[in-house]
Amino acid sequence: MSDGATHFKASVVTTALVAPLAFYALDTDLAVALTIGTVVGWVVTPDVRDIERKTYPSFFLSTIPLIGWFVEIAFLVFWFPLALILPHRSKLSHLPFLGTFIALTYAIFYSWLWSRGLWLSTYHLTDVFKELLASAYVRAFFLGWCVPDIVHWLMDGAPIGRRRGFKRRRNAPQGPFATDHPIAFLRDRASLAAVSFRSHRARLLGY
Ligand SMILES: [Zn+2]
Repeated sequence: MSDGATHFKASVVTTALVAPLAFYALDTDLAVALTIGTVVGWVVTPDVRDIERKTYPSFFLSTIPLIGWFVEIAFLVFWFPLALILPHRSKLSHLPFLGTFIALTYAIFYSWLWSRGLWLSTYHLTDVFKELLASAYVRAFFLGWCVPDIVHWLMDGAPIGRRRGFKRRRNAPQGPFATDHPIAFLRDRASLAAVSFRSHRARLLGY
């Protein structure tokens, strides 16, 4: 399995190979959208979408002069909720096309949520999705983003089933307070709360 730095180098090479082909085969503006998609794939990797900690891409962003620290924090905050939900090397983050599509859908939804919350826009979510997913530029961007994700998946050993590397769920915690990592601690607390809520409800409803 490759580390983050190797994945990163591979995705840069991917852009170098795909961009000239895109400009040869497509209209210039579609080729630009597709190339931007491959560049987004340098940093928003399948691992960023399922590891709720610093990864190589966030380290890379932190090296941007002056604003790097801010960009890194914004990046971590943006992907944190999705990464918290998805177990590492999940199908939903790593499987070609599906993983990228979930990331795109999440990015649109979460951006919409922030813009509504901050009163920056009043668009309805369904309109936003309809308009964006119908756009040829967004589709070209999506296809471009898929390419480094596919390379990442191949470098991870191309897992297709649970036996070959995908995990259905995180390893169960050893005890209620088995970890001192604050995020893992909160996660364990949340899952314990969910379990006791479910059994409580089951008692109330008699099933
Ligand atoms: Zn991976």
